[in-house]
Amino acid sequence: MAGLRQLLRAGPVARSCVQLRSTALEHTVAGTAPRGKGGICFDLSDEQKEIQQLARKFAREEVLPKAAELDRTMEYPWELIKKSWELGLMNAHIPADIGGMGLGTFEGCLITEEIAYACSGVQTAMESTNLGQIPVILAGNAEQKKKYLGRLLEEPLICAYGVTEPGAGSDVSGVRTRAVRKGDEYVINGQKMWITNGGVANWYFILARTSSDPACKAANAFTGFIVDADSPGLTKGRKEINMGQRCANTSGFTLEDVVVPKENVLIGEGAGFKIAMGAFDCTRPPVAAGAVGICQRALDEATKYALERKTFGTHIANHQAISFILAEIAMEMELGRLAWMRAAWEVDQGRRNTYYASIAKGFAADAANRAASNAVQVFGGNGFNTEYPVEKLMRDAKIYQIYEGTAQIQRLIIAREHISQAKMGLL
Ligand SMILES: Cc1cc2nc3c(=O)[nH]c(=O)nc-3n(C[C@H](O)[C@H](O)[C@H](O)COP(=O)(O)OP(=O)(O)OC[C@H]3O[C@@H](n4cnc5c(N)ncnc54)[C@H](O)[C@@H]3O)c2cc1C
Repeated sequence: MAGLRQLLRAGPVARSCVQLRSTALEHTVAGTAPRGKGGICFDLSDEQKEIQQLARKFAREEVLPKAAELDRTMEYPWELIKKSWELGLMNAHIPADIGGMGLGTFEGCLITEEIAYACSGVQTAMESTNLGQIPVILAGNAEQKKKYLGRLLEEPLICAYGVTEPGAGSDVSGVRTRAVRKGDEYVINGQKMWITNGGVANWYFILARTSSDPACKAANAFTGFIVDADSPGLTKGRKEINMGQRCANTSGFTLEDVVVPKENVLIGEGAGFKIAMGAFDCTRPPVAAGAVGICQRALDEATKYALERKTFGTHIANHQAISFILAEIAMEMELGRLAWMRAAWEVDQGRRNTYYASIAKGFAADAANRAASNAVQVFGGNGFNTEYPVEKLMRDAKIYQIYEGTAQIQRLIIAREHISQAKMGLL
């Protein structure tokens, strides 16, 4: 299989897919706009189609055949990680000036949706290294980027995003890990929990409290650090046994007097909360795309089955109740896809997309859960059995409503954004 770099060598990738064509206005002004071609375009560019095709081929030929076995063994998919790294399907958004391909969030989402279709456990393993990288991409200086992102380009290594703790998930301001400055270093103590890739990462983005003032606002109380996983005092915990996405690695780790040089602080003391939260604007669209991958798989599996299985002398697809279930999955899948496209497109335009990212993540996660449950229903008794693919989809789908902000937290964000716009008279 030719890698992404080879495919893209011919030219730069268009940074957005649903392109508001920059030339549309010129055409209109000049009276040359082709009928029906101006404004929003839902076509992928040729390069985006190539990215999608490469990801699809890898997902269907390499990932999908191994998905059930990986689910059973819960083995971390290192072999697939290495292959996808070789193909350029990982780290694709690392900036070009440090040797990456510098692709947009949109292109990343195209890849993510395809991988999730085949196995969302593998997709989470691949995607969470992006979650660890985004704080460095957004807030790292040239040396930090070169050292830590460059390392990921040299070898198939991964990183992780370490924010959650036993006492702080949705409420990030409750993070208790402490970092204390001693000369040119910080000494970090604390415990992180539920960290995807936590047990296999080479380095972490870690959020720690640096303010000793209990009244200090969250926005200023925390600092973001890059921490090497082999730092003395950092102990990785066991792999958690989860309901779904069982080949992905979820682990906690403890930090006991872990010494981190001041050079590993992102931006500066007190900037951590904004960095940690800001990362989600880039990573929630791919989470939504992963959930849409589950919807598409649920639809394809349920449709195939409904066209094979007969009851009362006809294929079950001919029972209106079943065909309407397929229609429901299709509706939500299409809307979820449009939602991640909008959210990814907004951030690729350099615009604040918090509202769209939460809508996409919140909607697609719920849609994936309904789609997977509905697919199980279409399969009847077979749907409940591990010999068929849809029960795994149902177990795998649940996490999309929990990580990177729960279903409830997405609604809080959407409501906050909406109401603040209303108060400013911007609606
Ligand atoms: C498999 C897995 C992978 C993960 N990966 C990572 C990772 O890589 N890095 C990382 O840092 N974290 C990770 N997490 C942590 C994840 O982000 C948190 O679990 C999540 O944010 C929820 O936090 P919590 O579990 O503490 O639940 P809580 O915050 O205790 O929430 C419990 C319930 O209360 C609801 N709730 C909480 N506050 C409110 C509110 N104000 N209004 C309404 N409802 C509310 C929640 O929606 C939820 O239903 C992962 C978790 C899992 C399970």
